[in-house]
Amino acid sequence: MTADHLSQDSVAVVTGGNRGIGLEVARQLADRGLDVVLGSRDLERGRRAAARLASLAGRVLPCQLDVADPASVAAAAGWISDALGRADILVNNAAIEYDTDQQAATADLGRVQQALQTNLLGAWQTTQALLPLLRQSPHPRIVNVSSEGGSISEMTGGTPAYSVSKAALNALTRLLAGELGSAGFLVNAVCPGWTDTDMGPGGRPVEQGAASVTWAALLPDDGPTGGFYRDGRSLPW
Ligand code: NAP
Repeated sequence: MTADHLSQDSVAVVTGGNRGIGLEVARQLADRGLDVVLGSRDLERGRRAAARLASLAGRVLPCQLDVADPASVAAAAGWISDALGRADILVNNAAIEYDTDQQAATADLGRVQQALQTNLLGAWQTTQALLPLLRQSPHPRIVNVSSEGGSISEMTGGTPAYSVSKAALNALTRLLAGELGSAGFLVNAVCPGWTDTDMGPGGRPVEQGAASVTWAALLPDDGPTGGFYRDGRSLPW
């Protein structure tokens, strides 16, 4: 069963969908009857992940998508357009470099650059590539999977590559929400909370972390935009 405002042929695109929170978000959306494009930078890993979700109400379609590679992003957007002809929800989930071993004062700027390439520019170029399809959706949603680590008001030092990339992703969220609001978009940043994945071992169950994200993907038309949330509650910027 989809959310009330969505139809059975609605399409969600999830980046980094082959494991962790992205995989569970794909499962939760397909369980509600949406068709889900499961983006994976390694197509074979994406195929194996999609096969695990084969019995749900909606289809789960693996797609090669390396968000740090402009050619891959363009090819994925082209494939989605040709094969499905629509995109209603984009979940920018893919991320790297939770650099607990670094401090801003001494950080390896090459690692900072790589984090920005994936966590900020990857989400940005994927959004740009899918905007023509999203603009045709009656209920377009963009969810930028962020982290409380990107909350500038809460920063006290540490994880510099990751934290700066997520703060920048939050800024992008505000800009897109402002620019696309008149076109009916809801654009939000979401923190899944400390969640038990390869990035957050020992955290809360992945179903809970992913539900925090899925909430923003399924917001009704009168839902919020330009916000930063965990479990549906506002977080400080
Ligand atoms: P994860 O288990 O490390 O999974 C990361 C996913 O991103 C993998 O599917 C990975 O693909 C993919 N990815 C990395 N670089 C990519 C690229 N260039 N193109 C496409 N996919 C790429 O992390 P997670 O815990 O599920 O995190 C998901 C999101 O939640 C991230 O945005 C993260 O910052 C955020 N978050 C997580 C926690 C937590 O406690 N887990 C807390 C706050 C925020 P490969 O398999 O190919 O590497």
